[in-house]
Amino acid sequence: MAITEYLERIFGGTAEEYAQRAERAMLSGERLFVVTANPEIIMHAQKDPEVDRLLRAKEAEIVPDGISVVKAMRMLGLEARERVTGVDLADKLLRAAGRQGKTVFLLGAKEEVVSALAQKLRREYPGVTVHYRNGYEGDKDKIFDGIAAIAPDLTLVALGAPAQDLLIYRRLKDFSRGVFMGVGGSFDVLSGSKRRAPAFFVRTNTEWLYRILREPSRLGRFWNNNVKFLGEVRRAARGGR
Ligand code: UDP
Repeated sequence: MAITEYLERIFGGTAEEYAQRAERAMLSGERLFVVTANPEIIMHAQKDPEVDRLLRAKEAEIVPDGISVVKAMRMLGLEARERVTGVDLADKLLRAAGRQGKTVFLLGAKEEVVSALAQKLRREYPGVTVHYRNGYEGDKDKIFDGIAAIAPDLTLVALGAPAQDLLIYRRLKDFSRGVFMGVGGSFDVLSGSKRRAPAFFVRTNTEWLYRILREPSRLGRFWNNNVKFLGEVRRAARGGR
């Protein structure tokens, strides 16, 4: 599918607006599947039919996770207020679930990471019910059978994109309610195991620069996924499609 068609489907409002929409869905027992799209997954979709289907699925709501996606949408004349990052959205949803005494399932990351996040939530929100499984042991489909039996209000899957999103998409039919989201490395940050970029980088949309400075080996990946991506969108915006 043309890159423009993926971008046309992405939510263009503010992060706060989207968080409110997802919170309402969680509180009212709707079923909602959120995919946070970065340039990497959009580039991937062009080569992989399974990921293409995911980004076109009517059941999936897509939000722009990254400033390059926001810029790409604007190049096409689409509304794109700001990025809606998976880690912030996950944080807001977990807090809302905590305040409302909801049931949460956390799947993924290392045992010490996901158990630390579960403990933190239980400590901060005594009314919440938290189930969890790490992302390295057990058959994922069996784990999902267990999740379906619980029918949580919120299920966050941290296995890395696009595996986490494809897994949710494949099992969505087993649920009539609940919010589902793939959250990449968010458990590492939310549990306190890994530091997020300092506020300055977050505020100025330069978290990507902070990551490259800390891990220069990311430069190649950054180039492939962001610079090439924006080049392709620029060509499409000029009418090349
Ligand atoms: N992960 C996992 N099982 C695996 C591979 C990865 O639970 O088999 C976890 C890993 O511990 C990390 C997350 O998935 O918490 C992926 O984070 P990363 O930042 O690589 O993902 P991205 O945000 O790039 O999708």
